[in-house]
Amino acid sequence: MKDYYKILGVERGATEEEIKKAYRKLAHQHHPDKSGGNETKFKEINEAYQVLSDKKKRETYDRFGTAEPGGFGAGGFSWDGFGFDSQGMGDMGNLGDIFEDLFENLGVRPRRRSYAHGSDLEVKEEITLEEALRGKAKHIEFKTLGKCETCKGQGADAEAGFSQCAACGGQGEIRMDRRTFFGSFSQVKACEKCHGMGQIPKKVCKVCNGNGRISITREVDVEILPGIEDNQLIQVKGMGEAGERGSAAGDLYVRVRIKPHSAFERRGDDLIVKKELKLKDVLLGNKVEVKTLAGGTLHVEIPPHFNLKDLLRIPGEGMPRFGSSRRGDLLVDFILKAPARLNPKDKKAFEDLLKD
Ligand SMILES: [Zn+2]
Ligand SMILES: [Zn+2]
Repeated sequence: MKDYYKILGVERGATEEEIKKAYRKLAHQHHPDKSGGNETKFKEINEAYQVLSDKKKRETYDRFGTAEPGGFGAGGFSWDGFGFDSQGMGDMGNLGDIFEDLFENLGVRPRRRSYAHGSDLEVKEEITLEEALRGKAKHIEFKTLGKCETCKGQGADAEAGFSQCAACGGQGEIRMDRRTFFGSFSQVKACEKCHGMGQIPKKVCKVCNGNGRISITREVDVEILPGIEDNQLIQVKGMGEAGERGSAAGDLYVRVRIKPHSAFERRGDDLIVKKELKLKDVLLGNKVEVKTLAGGTLHVEIPPHFNLKDLLRIPGEGMPRFGSSRRGDLLVDFILKAPARLNPKDKKAFEDLLKD
């Protein structure tokens, strides 16, 4: 096990500030882009800092001698040639700020500019409870930005041809040599004039005005599976907004809303239905008719001594469990109504019946 405290040269009880300070000093000292730099050492320092600067990781490390199961190597780090991808900063947390000024000081080259991916989109789709029960294929249409097919998303009129970018001499990047306190470095930036392409179209695409994207109405067929929940999202990969200049499109998210039903109430996988009872049917033990959401009719016997305030559970007549073959239950909520005034004959009959 690596001793991260030793690597940074700090005490075990070091404060956040002390750790940050030690890290800055060592990172400058060992940065591989400068003479006498040491890549292995530099990585080690960064690894140690990533753990000790993070309260949670540090706690785990202090207790178990490791930062977290699986380690942290899989994060947003990229060490290939010490290219620095500012878009991959998300996983680095508070390492970001310190890195930014460190790299600025060192003049480490950023990666070539990459074009923005298309945005994700969300559309709402309302379905009925019956559709949620059976599942439903839905055809969805929505407006978004799509790739311009005329220029294949490049924004250039290919027939008119290209000329070499004068700003970068066709390299797509601009190199600047800088002298700093730590030595001299060359900084390479993507050429802004040609967006790193090295060439500039003589004419822009007439269809998209050089944007590479145009407004379109996209049509997508979505399969809504039986048992879907209210507010559930269905992801359709690559069906969101087109990316800039042919980079990846965003995803489409279909938010499924289930309309309230007039007779059935959903509670998880179970369905609740109200059923009015006649006193006569209860006394005589008659079967009662209960409608199911699927459109069927069940003939239900009320068990003796059943408390009518309880819900009567009919197994397997509820909603399908999403992604499984099992189904919830149907719960019958009985409402017992007092009968209308009995006619004298019926009244007499009841009195005779209930005599003892
Ligand atoms: Zn175009
Ligand atoms: Zn250029």
